[in-house]
Amino acid sequence: MNAVVLRPGRDKAVRNRHHWIFSGAIRDLPGFEDGAILPVRSAEGELLGHAYFNRRSSIAGRMVSFGAEAPETAVRHCVERALALRTGFFDPAVTNARRLINAEGDGLPGLIADLYDDVLVLQVATLGMERLKPLVIELLTGALRPRSILEKSDLPARRDEGLEDFEGLLAGEQVDRVRILEAGIPYWVSLAQGQKTGFYLDQRESRALVRRSAAGRRVLNTFAYSGSFSVCALLGGAARADSVDSSGAAMALAQDNFELNGLASDAGAFFTADVFEFLREPALDHDFIILDPPAFAKKRTDVVQACRGYKDINRLALQRVKAPGLVLTFSCSHFVDEGLFQQVVFQAAGEAGRRVRILQRHRQAFDHPVNVFHPETAYLKGFLLYVD
Ligand code: SAH
Repeated sequence: MNAVVLRPGRDKAVRNRHHWIFSGAIRDLPGFEDGAILPVRSAEGELLGHAYFNRRSSIAGRMVSFGAEAPETAVRHCVERALALRTGFFDPAVTNARRLINAEGDGLPGLIADLYDDVLVLQVATLGMERLKPLVIELLTGALRPRSILEKSDLPARRDEGLEDFEGLLAGEQVDRVRILEAGIPYWVSLAQGQKTGFYLDQRESRALVRRSAAGRRVLNTFAYSGSFSVCALLGGAARADSVDSSGAAMALAQDNFELNGLASDAGAFFTADVFEFLREPALDHDFIILDPPAFAKKRTDVVQACRGYKDINRLALQRVKAPGLVLTFSCSHFVDEGLFQQVVFQAAGEAGRRVRILQRHRQAFDHPVNVFHPETAYLKGFLLYVD
């Protein structure tokens, strides 16, 4: 079969099991149909593995297998290993929602698979993974026997791949929302109109932290989406938990989650508003503010602008929080690493004129593993700040 040949000296990343091949690293590109899997060779002719390729994408190829392993065998093994990695950590009577496959974090570029009780939700980011989808579905169906398999592939990155957004039912019955349990707490996951695959599973460990640290506090949960941090704060004994999101649908979902947990409707208010403006409201009296914005930097060139946005909301929250107070602040932009994010918080604290200490550092939950060979899989970082 025709192989893709890398330029001399440009094979180091792939030899180190990084998944991405940029066009600048390629010497010979044979004729092929976009999305096809091709062997990848070094300039000396050594077989380095197999990758799927797409001429339209800024990342020309993504490694599916390394060395001599056949690509389909590698996919099979990666799915098996991904399921094995999560086995034994969750008691389904307490937590029945988890990420099963975290793209390159599990060796499967372009693929997210989340399990919500017995409903499997896939998100496919690339044409190459689109071609592998039937195999993935077969493997996951065999292992899990889900009630339904849905796809929620509404990612801007798909446009670079020549793919339209797609949301729909792949197998089983149509499900609009599913009730999950996390740490014994029920939540509605909105599959019909929810964000991502339906729920921010990556914040599981931070939700537990909020539950532990909110007792007696007046909490402001910004970028609240499902209201899950508000629910956790109240179950942890918060005096009040107010939620803000620019999406009215998100605020309706958050209210449903209050009801599902038997929380009084006056336990917190729901504001459909822009957080940048809301944090300037004169009447705020909260002593625990949560900032969990969407990724402000979606690409490297966005970083400066993104840091300005992060600094603004952090400065406002640090100014507004009543002392002694807590601010739990996150960034889920891969391109803003923890060091840079800490610098942004440092500047925000300086401008706010408050004394700020980091009590804890946070990362994406463990079922979103970081592949040491592919550090781009680390994206979520957060600080619990103490302000006095
Ligand atoms: N903390 C949430 C997830 C937040 S996702 C959870 O754990 O479930 C980011 C949310 O921010 C989305 O719901 C989006 O609607 C909202 N959002 C984005 N920009 C916003 C803005 N400028 N003001 C208010 N909300 C915004």
